[in-house]
Amino acid sequence: MPNRPKRPCKHRGCRELVAGGKSYCEQHAHEEIKWKADAVRGNRHARGYGNAWVKKRERILSRDCGLCQVCKRIGRVTIATEVDHRVPKSQGGTDADENLQSICRECHATKTGSERR
Ligand SMILES: [Zn+2]
Ligand SMILES: [Zn+2]
Repeated sequence: MPNRPKRPCKHRGCRELVAGGKSYCEQHAHEEIKWKADAVRGNRHARGYGNAWVKKRERILSRDCGLCQVCKRIGRVTIATEVDHRVPKSQGGTDADENLQSICRECHATKTGSERR
């Protein structure tokens, strides 16, 4: 079949027809990307960590709007991909929400590096 049937965009209320294989129109394509990122994140972490940590992680990330809190303090807007302990566990930090912050890969690497020194 050379022409796959077009389907309506999955965005609620959007009537735009999209080519077969895609779920969203161009205007709403970012929603599909976001959804995929969440699915990938969930799978990756469900394997290595316990369920409680996955849930906590997601809570912290959504509390911080998914933005790196270290970058935010210096006026940068960066998507956080990790959750970091403000006070490292090696220095008596806990897993309490107040001690956790969303952080980007770059800041996390910098922080981990300086903690080791
Ligand atoms: Zn749409
Ligand atoms: Zn950062």
